[in-house]
Amino acid sequence: MQLTRPRTLPGLMMDAPLLIGTLIDHAAAWHGDVEIVTQQIGADPHRYGYRDARKRSAQLAHALHEKLGIVEGDRVATFAWNTYRHFEAYFGVSGIGAVLHTINPRLFAHQIEYIVNHAGDRYVMVDPHLVPLLEPHAPSFPDVEGYIILADEEHMPQTSLRNAICYETLIADMPADIAWPELDERAASSLCYTSGTTGNPKGVMYSHRSTVLHALCGAADLSVGENALATLLAIVPMFHANAWGLPYLAPLVGSKLVFPDPHLDPARLYAIMESERVTTSCGVPTIWFNLLAYMKKNDLRFSTMKAIAIGGSAAPPALIETLERDFGVAALHAWGMTETSPSCTTGLPKPQHATTIEERIVRKTTQGRVKYGVGVSIRDDDGNALPFDGVAQGDLFVRGPWVASGYYEDDEATAAAVTADGWFRTGDIASIDSDGYVVIRDRSKDVIKSGGEWISSIDLENVAIAHPAVAEAAAIGVPHPTWAERPVLVIVPKDGTNPSKTEIVDFLTGKVAKWWLPDDVLFVRELPHTATGKVSKKTLREQHAAGKLV
Ligand code: ADP
Repeated sequence: MQLTRPRTLPGLMMDAPLLIGTLIDHAAAWHGDVEIVTQQIGADPHRYGYRDARKRSAQLAHALHEKLGIVEGDRVATFAWNTYRHFEAYFGVSGIGAVLHTINPRLFAHQIEYIVNHAGDRYVMVDPHLVPLLEPHAPSFPDVEGYIILADEEHMPQTSLRNAICYETLIADMPADIAWPELDERAASSLCYTSGTTGNPKGVMYSHRSTVLHALCGAADLSVGENALATLLAIVPMFHANAWGLPYLAPLVGSKLVFPDPHLDPARLYAIMESERVTTSCGVPTIWFNLLAYMKKNDLRFSTMKAIAIGGSAAPPALIETLERDFGVAALHAWGMTETSPSCTTGLPKPQHATTIEERIVRKTTQGRVKYGVGVSIRDDDGNALPFDGVAQGDLFVRGPWVASGYYEDDEATAAAVTADGWFRTGDIASIDSDGYVVIRDRSKDVIKSGGEWISSIDLENVAIAHPAVAEAAAIGVPHPTWAERPVLVIVPKDGTNPSKTEIVDFLTGKVAKWWLPDDVLFVRELPHTATGKVSKKTLREQHAAGKLV
């Protein structure tokens, strides 16, 4: 059947590109007084509205272009926590067609050095109290032209950073209005490196179009599902997949936006949620475990919270149940990756699956239902598509307008991740049922995710193998009630040796980050291998779960 005409019949709708600048324009025009609140350590919160945020974003845009010569396609990095100035950079940088490269300050030195150079950043915008963390790296950034310190003159730190510029002085004399250039909506807008892989971090390059579409669909989920958009608390860092898109979603719908300070201790978070009347927040399971434990201990309730989105790691049933049953808050379990902007599923059960709380909780414990715009496929080892019957499990592939089509300037990583027919390999193993509920069953990539942060199993193994009594080492992630996963090291000792757990942990101490140290070290005679001779982490995890490794 011939369905397409030789010539497309054009629709008669205006061709308005989906640009990030339009989000802040809309917010300034129609909810200009709605607040953006930044919690500050040792000072009162900073408060202003979207109208002022737009003015200052415009000033930043002018300054970047007119004073520093930033043009479309240039990369400008941020090394910063969640603040109003970082928010201004989201629009001031991307709005003029430059690319906002958000750097995770928690990455290792060699990763930070790699990504700044790989991205080709021209300037780095840095929080004053992160300056000491950045200074030691700066000599390795030959191409960075200067550092914009996100402070006023009074709070400018002493620094060895070359060409350090005060943010407030930079923007002060610039015009407070701007007509954003009419960019191509497919142009790059922001860049985020993911370290959730082995080898060097990989750059995920978002576009204006992908960002706006992702925000639109996120807003639809929250407004239709739980009507919880009044006040959003952005706990996820702005360097982690754009804080899961909240800084774009909030101006789109007119939500008040609250940025917590970086010390996310439960007492502080609870106080912010109550005083700012937060209705929705999102974060990794560990945040919620700690918060709920604190609230239970002190017999506290939420007075305004309506919905909490949980993702980044599997949310255990007990967490969902406690939120829904004990605290009356809708738990939205979501799955996604930096490469998918990140949201691909949402924990909104179909109405017929939510008639009783028990049923609702069962459905909400899945990773949620496939969102509009996201295509999913599960495949066996030979690449055959598996049925969506809730039982068959295989490698999960996704595609859609906010899924990465490749990595920035990294053909090898792109070839490994994207199939010839245009699907993105997630490295997760899933089953999907006929209603679109996705359950993540396992991970085929060899990394461990603890408290929402990655631990490289290969790096752990490489250090362990240097111990004179270790013949082979394999690090696996095992489930943990608070941290989602913790590393366990499985070791084959060399013949004639008998190393102890303490000896191995002592050996690792100081060579890897403290929180990477394995919770347990187990000794075996041999490791299970796959048909291709690789250590089978999957079998090891199964053996560990069945108590067969002790
Ligand atoms: P983010 O932490 O923002 O989701 P990353 O790219 O750092 O993004 O990590 C993505 C990976 O985290 C996924 O491939 C998956 O392994 C894991 N993950 C994310 N969300 C979930 C979830 N709800 N359940 C289980 N695993 C998850």
